[in-house]
Amino acid sequence: MYKKDAIDRDLDARLKSVHLNEKQPQTSSNLSEQNSAYSSAPGSGATDVTTPETGAEEEEEQKEQKEQIQTRHPQPKKEPWYKKLSGVPLNTRPASPYTLNPPIDSDGLSWPSMGARERLESSPEEAGKREKRIAEAVKTILTELGEDPNREGLLETPERYARAMLFFTKGYEENIKDVIKRAVFEEDHDEMVIVKDIEIYSLCEHHLVPFFGKCHIAYIPNKKVLGLSKLARLAEMFSRRLQVQERLTKQIAIALSEILQPRGVAVVIEATHMCMVSRGVQKSGAITSTSCMLGCFRSQQKTRDEFLTLLGRN
Ligand SMILES: [Zn+2]
Repeated sequence: MYKKDAIDRDLDARLKSVHLNEKQPQTSSNLSEQNSAYSSAPGSGATDVTTPETGAEEEEEQKEQKEQIQTRHPQPKKEPWYKKLSGVPLNTRPASPYTLNPPIDSDGLSWPSMGARERLESSPEEAGKREKRIAEAVKTILTELGEDPNREGLLETPERYARAMLFFTKGYEENIKDVIKRAVFEEDHDEMVIVKDIEIYSLCEHHLVPFFGKCHIAYIPNKKVLGLSKLARLAEMFSRRLQVQERLTKQIAIALSEILQPRGVAVVIEATHMCMVSRGVQKSGAITSTSCMLGCFRSQQKTRDEFLTLLGRN
């Protein structure tokens, strides 16, 4: 805060000095008029030409200076409050689930993406403009790839791609509260609840290509259960964002843990990554498995074994 104030003051001072400098060319041109008045005397015609030029040069220099100063210290704009948090969520939310501040927001919008709230709250008109901007960027990509974005087959591709990308990342516009709604029920059930083979489609945030596979979710209730379809909806919400499989696994587990405060949660994801099978090492059969075990799934080998047996992995 103090630093920012100091920078602002510094900027103000600089801008003031620029304004002062701006007024000077006028006086110098006045001077040159005076000069020319003097120089109307015979024999001094040369100075007539040079003085206005130096005045223009000075003006240009000052303009340049002003531009430089502005680029170095851009004028602070009025921004929505959440933009001021830039960088904060990642610093304050530890990556590990075994800490007091797990990386989940109740509204799920400010982590990991800062623009998610802006996207959710944008008007239909703004959304249309966003789609157009993405399409323009895709045109650039097509051109750079050596393609002709104006040939018949590609004419509507940029718009189609923009819509597809917005769909693939629609999870940014959802949050836990809306997904769960009122599907948490009091129930005296304390046996393992398990939903297997939930299909997930996500985008690898390192290559922006899909990874997809199956997600298995289990939990042991502690007086509260969640509507079964909501487990799949949670997996869908988090997977429709730019992800790495490890984080996706963890986010589902922690979200469920926060919603139900159950005795334990286990999430296993088995996925095929296009960035792995279609390029680089090209191991077409490779499947990546990740798991996140919380509570009694973590502390009790027996519970973990039961879960893995039910998955057919033991
Ligand atoms: Zn990748």
